[in-house]
Amino acid sequence: MTLPSTYRDRNCSIARALEVVGERWTLLIVRDAFYGVRRYGDFAVQLGVPRAVLTDRLKTLVAEGVMERGKDEQGALEYRLTGKGRELWPVLRALMGWGDAFYSPQGPRRSFRHAADGGLVDAGGRCAACGRDVPAPDLLVEPGPGFDAGAPAEDPVSALIDTPRPLLEPIS
Ligand SMILES: [Zn+2]
Repeated sequence: MTLPSTYRDRNCSIARALEVVGERWTLLIVRDAFYGVRRYGDFAVQLGVPRAVLTDRLKTLVAEGVMERGKDEQGALEYRLTGKGRELWPVLRALMGWGDAFYSPQGPRRSFRHAADGGLVDAGGRCAACGRDVPAPDLLVEPGPGFDAGAPAEDPVSALIDTPRPLLEPIS
């Protein structure tokens, strides 16, 4: 189910993009995929999203070529970001930077580092150490200064996401 398309939306690519990723939960599913979540059950547990909704959102993401269904090494069904899906990273990162700026007074809740040199990477994707724009597969994610460590994760998937790790590395 996509949002209703109106005449005024025809010449707006934000509106068009939101038809794909603008529904509730969708960007959080994509976020989890960047954090390495691939299995249906892991998305369900980590997000606490009703299964019918998760099924619907994944269906849309697969139909739009943002994610693809496949089998992992054990033969279990998994959902992976496609190249098109990975190109959503700057969108998510910018949204996160905006959230940190206005809704996280203690500072960013998560920090990103360039795996190659350990430099902090800003919301625009630039590494403070080497000055390069760092693509998602070369990033490490870790709890930032605004991270709330007072409420430990209740499920193993969330606990893994909350520890320093490479972006996109599969959680299994
Ligand atoms: Zn760097």
